Amino acid sequence: MPDAPVVIIGSGFGGLALAIRLQAAGVRTLLLDGRDQPGGRAGVFKDAGFTFDAGPTVITAPPCLEELFDVAGERLADHVDLLPVMPFYRLFWEDGDSFDYSNDLDDVRRQIAARRPEDVDGYRRFLTYAQSVFDEGYTRLAHEPFLDIWSMVRAAPQLVKLQAYRSVYDIVGRYIRDEHLRQAFSFHSLLVGGNPFTTSSIYTLIHVLERTWGVTFPRGGTGALVRALVALYERLGGTLRLSTPVERILVDNGAVTGVQVGDGSIIPAAAVASNADVVHTYRALLGHDPHGRDVAGALERQRFSMSLFLIYFGTKRQHPHLAHHNVIFGPRYRELLRDIFDHGTLADDFSLYLHAPTRTDATLAPEGCEAFYVLAPVPHLGHANPVDWATEGRRYADRILDALEARYIPSLRRDLVTERIFTPIDFRQQLNAHLGSAFSLEPLLTQSAWFRVHNRDGRLRGLYFVGAGTHPGAGVPGVVNSAKATAALMIGDLRARRCA
Ligand SMILES: Cc1cc2nc3c(=O)[nH]c(=O)nc-3n(C[C@H](O)[C@H](O)[C@H](O)COP(=O)(O)OP(=O)(O)OC[C@H]3O[C@@H](n4cnc5c(N)ncnc54)[C@H](O)[C@@H]3O)c2cc1C
Repeated sequence: MPDAPVVIIGSGFGGLALAIRLQAAGVRTLLLDGRDQPGGRAGVFKDAGFTFDAGPTVITAPPCLEELFDVAGERLADHVDLLPVMPFYRLFWEDGDSFDYSNDLDDVRRQIAARRPEDVDGYRRFLTYAQSVFDEGYTRLAHEPFLDIWSMVRAAPQLVKLQAYRSVYDIVGRYIRDEHLRQAFSFHSLLVGGNPFTTSSIYTLIHVLERTWGVTFPRGGTGALVRALVALYERLGGTLRLSTPVERILVDNGAVTGVQVGDGSIIPAAAVASNADVVHTYRALLGHDPHGRDVAGALERQRFSMSLFLIYFGTKRQHPHLAHHNVIFGPRYRELLRDIFDHGTLADDFSLYLHAPTRTDATLAPEGCEAFYVLAPVPHLGHANPVDWATEGRRYADRILDALEARYIPSLRRDLVTERIFTPIDFRQQLNAHLGSAFSLEPLLTQSAWFRVHNRDGRLRGLYFVGAGTHPGAGVPGVVNSAKATAALMIGDLRARRCA
């Protein structure tokens, strides 16, 4: 089918990045999304003059985004203004302690010394370790497709040397003694859906990503970055069709031939790349094929990341004592994470991430107002006795808002202008996320690289994957790097087919 386009299912960061790379390489693509807006988890809500980014807010590693403009002969800076965020995070604890984390080494050292002087040297050694992980895990391997076991075998000695079998917390704990500091330097894996106590220490590389390029926020919000990527894609001649759910990937004689969409029509395809949830793709879109059913069954036995409970809200007053990114640790750390990841219970306590984007960009709220979202990691829907969010959601939101009002946002209730909640059920219904997981497969070593869904299916010709469920995993840099791996494979395969 040489004249048919390549169909990409899903316009998350991964799908968009893949579509741009293919289109820039001269491959005609059609990008389909079931929702009425692009960006996937990076969607946008607007309410009462407030703009809320629904998902990613910590934008790191701009070079991987710049590359998408480079391949099209353009410059990211001409289209998106990435504003530096300082501090990167303001961390708060129950006992009133707080810590501003950033790449200002003197400031970080000073704060560490005030708590525990010997941890200053521990932090230096931790950074040296994280740098070696970054050099291997990000610079060399993040955009490598792990298609066969040998690719894993080749990487293994280095992974062993870096002690990738240890957890993030375990490694941090070897260098740092103070418990608050251990939390401050280990919570990062939660940003990509990993429990710091079980996620491979490879994810300490996030520190180096942040320290090297800083933490940024696009002027106008993450939604402005998504819009810039869509505009770039369309300038390259690509077609994005929204409100077009794919219901089936068509297969003939071991090769994909097209997709069937919600209105029943059939779109022939030279190849299909799915940016949709990996279980949804194999179970719902390929469940008519024995291979689809087999892979779905195997994936369903794997471990999935936690879900999130979110409240997007706006206040008619500003709160300058808060930073753009605030992490509010609850009374328990390890035990709370165990409740979320292992027991699947909704605990009485919580740890929160509070996003206050108007600290960086005031245009996201009416004058004098503040836009927020607060999220709590919560169990996904696959545990025994999953939480009944229809009844629990409102109660849980009230508990979180009460806690914020008591400690961080005085008179929150009185100043509230708008509020909307998003639960694990919404992740499942609106994004087809398996078990309502916010980040797809958990980033365990045994579910990473070759052990993760491959960028190219091993059995069905012309079927590819991009996004959080594939190597290297969730997070904006992760899925944009997965697109680099998938694009290289697809371009090579399509050229080889043309020459055959
Ligand atoms: C609340 C939240 C906060 C986060 N914060 C950060 C952060 O600060 N920094 C960071 O780097 N990462 C963050 N992440 C993680 C990051 O957002 C995700 O890992 C990443 O955006 C996922 O991108 P993706 O390419 O896998 O696609 P997704 O965003 O998952 O998009 C998949 C798309 O596929 C579409 N789709 C699904 N099924 C179908 C179908 N059958 N037919 C058509 N379309 C379909 C969906 O509608 C969706 O648009 C956050 C995630 C969440 C949820």
